[in-house]
Amino acid sequence: MIVAIDKNSGFCFGVEKAVKKAEEMLQQSGSLYCLGDIVHNETEVERLDKLGLTTIDHDRYFTLHDETVLIRAHGEPPSTYEYAERNNIKLVDATCPIVLKLQDRIRKDYLTIIPEPVQVVVYGKPGHAEVNGLIGQTDGNAIVVEHLAELEKINFSKPIAFYAQTTKDLVGFQVLEKEIKKRAAGTMVEVNDTICRQVSNRIPGIRDFAVKHELILFVSGKKSSNGKLLFEMCQEANSNSKFIGGFDEVDLAWFKGVQSVGVCGATSTPKKLLEDVAHHVEGLGC
Ligand code: SF4
Repeated sequence: MIVAIDKNSGFCFGVEKAVKKAEEMLQQSGSLYCLGDIVHNETEVERLDKLGLTTIDHDRYFTLHDETVLIRAHGEPPSTYEYAERNNIKLVDATCPIVLKLQDRIRKDYLTIIPEPVQVVVYGKPGHAEVNGLIGQTDGNAIVVEHLAELEKINFSKPIAFYAQTTKDLVGFQVLEKEIKKRAAGTMVEVNDTICRQVSNRIPGIRDFAVKHELILFVSGKKSSNGKLLFEMCQEANSNSKFIGGFDEVDLAWFKGVQSVGVCGATSTPKKLLEDVAHHVEGLGC
């Protein structure tokens, strides 16, 4: 049986940078807080936890004083930085540069008045950490939409600046864009396709990879947005695709009559985890 790993799967540069920063800090001090999971991958979170990285939620963060806290690639709203300043918290900011730029653009649009204030609309998942960071740039006033039915939250007689969470899908963005433009006929609509190409550029590649193999093992954390999206693409290309968190979820029954297995994953899946799954499958002796 042939087992191949997709060479384009594994961390995107934003996640890689955040993980490297955490490792560097842990080497120096042996312990560090991280605000939220550093990456939506349980195995990687556990690995870093063993090195001294303690994951905390926002409730815990807002009780800290005189500590060092890592901000992950998703970024944070201004309130996180303001609290740090007031409470002598040193922030190790690993926000992805692409997310930082998006936050900056949203803040500028929110402050724009032409002649009325611009409504910032974000295509994103409500409650997602990156989305929270984005709406924080607008004092919580940005409108988050994920489905067509939610467009009724928008006032179509006022100027609109439309953005996307970096890991959302391009097709969904374009469907909403078309409908917003239609309903806002005559009103200014500024469309900002801010979907990160680190995710969307992987779609054609992962589809090609999925059709080349009889069985696809897609490795990802269950909370990963891009994991869900890329897995859907695998399934569309190859219905014999399985979503797993790690090699312990591999089921022997999947390999009956299978000659070729492809292992791939999300932008939050460490390469090491893909290799572990591949070695495990090779060791099954099917
Ligand atoms: S997916 Fe793109 S925006 Fe998000 S962390 Fe990775 S490189 Fe940055």
